[in-house]
Amino acid sequence: MALLRSSATSDAATTLVSGDVRRHNLSIVARYLVDNGASSRSQIADGTGLTRGSVTALTAVLLKAAVLHEAEPQDARGKGRPLTLLNLSADHVAILALQLDADQVTGLLTTLTGEPLLRLAEHHGRPMGRPEPIIDVMASVLGRMLDACGAMGRRVVDMTVVVFAPVGGEPPVVIADTDLGWGAVDVMAGLRRREPRTPSFAQLAPDSTLAAQAELGLLDDSRDMIYLKSNSGIGGAIIIDGAVVEGSHKLAGALGHLPLVPHGEPCGCGQRGCLVTVAGPDSVLRAAGLEGMLESEGLTAALTELTGRILAGESRAAAAWTVASYWIGKSLQILTMAVDPQVIVLGGYWAHLADSVGERFAENRPVSGTGVPWVGAAVVPGRLEGDAALMGAIWGARDRLLGDPLQISI
Ligand SMILES: [Zn+2]
Repeated sequence: MALLRSSATSDAATTLVSGDVRRHNLSIVARYLVDNGASSRSQIADGTGLTRGSVTALTAVLLKAAVLHEAEPQDARGKGRPLTLLNLSADHVAILALQLDADQVTGLLTTLTGEPLLRLAEHHGRPMGRPEPIIDVMASVLGRMLDACGAMGRRVVDMTVVVFAPVGGEPPVVIADTDLGWGAVDVMAGLRRREPRTPSFAQLAPDSTLAAQAELGLLDDSRDMIYLKSNSGIGGAIIIDGAVVEGSHKLAGALGHLPLVPHGEPCGCGQRGCLVTVAGPDSVLRAAGLEGMLESEGLTAALTELTGRILAGESRAAAAWTVASYWIGKSLQILTMAVDPQVIVLGGYWAHLADSVGERFAENRPVSGTGVPWVGAAVVPGRLEGDAALMGAIWGARDRLLGDPLQISI
């Protein structure tokens, strides 16, 4: 990260020349303390490249806002003046993520740095086409999380509601959740009606965008990525130069709704022949003969069983996967020609089947004039399993808060 240095000056106050520079430099100090723990002003200056005058002024702002506190003074090995160490005061704040998938509602409360404080989950029973009972469960989990947070003496300073569906519009709503049989649903309004303590800053976000950002953060040197995943439905995200492509209507990356099959089955989104109709979990589980297990044990258990059967070569599951992986490979070919990514990351249960998807993808690659296949993007498994979106929500919140640390003032 480039440092915006204030010019050296004897008057520390004049180093805070503009709000943006100040916010950026406050953020540098906060991040340094998260990475290095309690530190003296001179250690912060040496470690960040900020001038000592700037660090004195910046830490004064953060101390006044109670974002920092003075830790116990340490005598520097018995010599000289004891060092005054500063540290972040984050014991009074928490980050909250509330996730809705096809099986359950999961709440995760963490510290500012993402250390878990509490995790709760409640099954909603998948009442298809009926958002109200599901939002009841979301509000119940949220209420219990807020009660527990208050009992810990913390207040929520960032909250994300994660849904396994595309989100769009103003205010943002779920556009269509094929796993739950939803059309457009205003989840946030429903939550606020039921739980008036829902923070005003709470935001609604699609799981795949958050999961993609979390997975990207674990990859070295990758800036252009296609993320495609399936657990609850099919989701995706396109990341160019490190940023998620949202599109004019926030629909970019809704890759489960790539309309692939001419005159195919109608999809909940209004199109025909979408990827989710031929490679979505319901369709693959049905073809593999696991519909009964889906009904009785839920989606997560059924997909775990499906993955095991495919990897073991069980004939019906393997046949179902041959069809699905053909369409997934086809989608990746189309996307690659549109985006030309460095890497394709597969998430959800597809992470365990990345090799076979890579093979389907490679079967129809474009060739150069000499007949040599172009070097296509590598198809790799995601690393965060089922928690990718939750971790993306928490890490995104952490970055937002550290980017403007006065938000965590008491
Ligand atoms: Zn569709």
